[in-house]
Amino acid sequence: MKKILLSLAAIVTISTAAHAAPMPVAASFSILGDLVQNVGGTRITLATLVGPEQDAHVFQPTPADVQKLSRTQLFFVNGLGFEGWLKRLQQANQYNGRVITVTQGIQPISKPHPVQDHDSGGNDPHAWQDPQRVKQMVKNIADALVAADPAGTAYYRDRASSYNKELDKLLAWATQAVASVPEKKRVILTSHDAFGYLGQRLGIRLLSPQGISTESEASAKDVATLIQQMRKEGIRALFMENISNPKLIEQIGRETGAMTGAKLYSDALSRDPVAANYLAMYRYNVTELVKGMQRNN
Ligand SMILES: [Zn+2]
Repeated sequence: MKKILLSLAAIVTISTAAHAAPMPVAASFSILGDLVQNVGGTRITLATLVGPEQDAHVFQPTPADVQKLSRTQLFFVNGLGFEGWLKRLQQANQYNGRVITVTQGIQPISKPHPVQDHDSGGNDPHAWQDPQRVKQMVKNIADALVAADPAGTAYYRDRASSYNKELDKLLAWATQAVASVPEKKRVILTSHDAFGYLGQRLGIRLLSPQGISTESEASAKDVATLIQQMRKEGIRALFMENISNPKLIEQIGRETGAMTGAKLYSDALSRDPVAANYLAMYRYNVTELVKGMQRNN
């Protein structure tokens, strides 16, 4: 009789665990939200603060955002100064959950040129543009979920490991795609410096008039220098981004006769399916970059 009771108790425990309410977590921006959702699966409910097509550099949390956050146990952020508004939020003591910085342990690259942004300590925040570094971010996400919800350990570890296999495949594909472009043509111009990690990983040289943050503005002199350089080197791979003002890039395009290439997704996912998740976004960006670089002289 005792045995039966024990096994009944076990069944009850298992079914309770399986039906336990999902853990509420938050992510600061859409790309990170996608990574968190891939690891967390059905064991989490996710709130994302800066949604698709929105710019996290200039975001200001509203009282509604703060409320949305207050209901979560974990808050995943990129770090490296990307969320300039985070300090204010924390100082105001408006969040009682745990803040997880997913770039912990990642080797950052420094900014291509200095801008007035003290938060990032001179590092480029756009680490998600390198799938190799994203694997570490995925591991950090899994570690945090496991710590907060130990019953889901195997679940989170499995999902993280299969996602990281997807990232390996993605990087292998991208490396091959870029290898199809002659080395001297591997240079692009985008509106803000969001592709430093991508360029470093895939061997693409980057030019940008706007600097690392969408907040900073390009000087007329910088733009003139860029235009000269583009003419001299025959650079025609010119790109806009989904979160940046297209005017400057359009002007450079007109003055150099370079056709403006497709819109790239740098800091946010798309609302339409083309870059609706990280894997699709990266694949789309690399495909467009390769097409653009083929036009260089
Ligand atoms: Zn950015």
